[in-house]
Amino acid sequence: MPPLVDPIPSGVVFESDTQTADLGLDKDVSVLKKATPKKHELVWFNIFWFLFLHVSSVYGLYLVFTSAKWQTNVFAFAVHLMCAIGIGAGSHRLWTHRCFKAKTPLRVLLMLWQTMGFQDCIFEWARDHRTHHKYADTDADPHNAERGLFFSHMGWLCCKKSPEVLEGGRRIDLSDLYDDPVVMFQKKHYMKMMPILCFVLPTVIPVYFWNETWLNAFLIPTILRYTCGINVVWSVNSFAHTFGYRPYDKSLNPRENIGVWLICVEGFHNYHHTFPWDYRATEHPLYNMLTPTIMFIDAMAMIGQAYDLKTVSPEIIKQRTHRTGDGTHHLWGWDDPEFNEMLKKQYASVSHRESKCA
Ligand SMILES: [Zn+2]
Ligand SMILES: [Zn+2]
Repeated sequence: MPPLVDPIPSGVVFESDTQTADLGLDKDVSVLKKATPKKHELVWFNIFWFLFLHVSSVYGLYLVFTSAKWQTNVFAFAVHLMCAIGIGAGSHRLWTHRCFKAKTPLRVLLMLWQTMGFQDCIFEWARDHRTHHKYADTDADPHNAERGLFFSHMGWLCCKKSPEVLEGGRRIDLSDLYDDPVVMFQKKHYMKMMPILCFVLPTVIPVYFWNETWLNAFLIPTILRYTCGINVVWSVNSFAHTFGYRPYDKSLNPRENIGVWLICVEGFHNYHHTFPWDYRATEHPLYNMLTPTIMFIDAMAMIGQAYDLKTVSPEIIKQRTHRTGDGTHHLWGWDDPEFNEMLKKQYASVSHRESKCA
């Protein structure tokens, strides 16, 4: 009989979870952060699988520069981009956070690209990610950053889920996913579709169409591409939860990390955890224009496949930044003339000096 655990929400998933006028929670979530010491039960299959992937990828990277045809390298990047959009726009923004709605053809396309990325089916991905947001930085967070950089990066996949994580997942409402036939079709046929889309097709296509060697085709567009894809998502969970500024909500671990954005094209994570239903990566238009996932959603909206795109108004962002930010917002941080001493006293629980040092 597992111990009874009672996870307390420390974050929001949807706009409907919010409790204050500036769309936050009506409590100090920083006191909820915890990582109770525990003995993890290792999953050796996953450990050996990750070892194989990373060692093979080093050789795959060598082959990229020494023997692969240019078509193979371009193809690997294209597959990587499709997987990134399938996960970023599909399982993340469409299905986890309901940031926008999508017509069936787009939902089917995103489902296929998401399957090609092999990071669990949409149903499980969305359940785990909702759990991550709702119980962020607590024992019920599947990749709790309070347990350290390695655990939040890939360590959490090397051990069994704790009773708290399982309980957190059980408390997540998944009725919208059960009602989506595309999600349920993928869930039912995942173990038949995934090996073909993630491993077989990316290997066979280069050999069949441009006479690439089997070794190059297997190690570059398949193994190296897949290993890069999982590390991109893991880096958001680890590095963007550990390093960077918190202009929107200083009580959360997630941070704005331009380095993670440059490599993973997703790294404005303090903004995302503060307003997760916003379909944009950030409030900055230029960075959104340079983010493939957001460009893709915008393009789909132009042709009518995506609609009801949700954003947060600049006024709400400003209010929230003043109330809970760490003072580093480029417009509405501590140097904003409108943010006078009285407002700072009213809203801030840390001093100007403390936030500058943070
Ligand atoms: Zn996160
Ligand atoms: Zn999210």
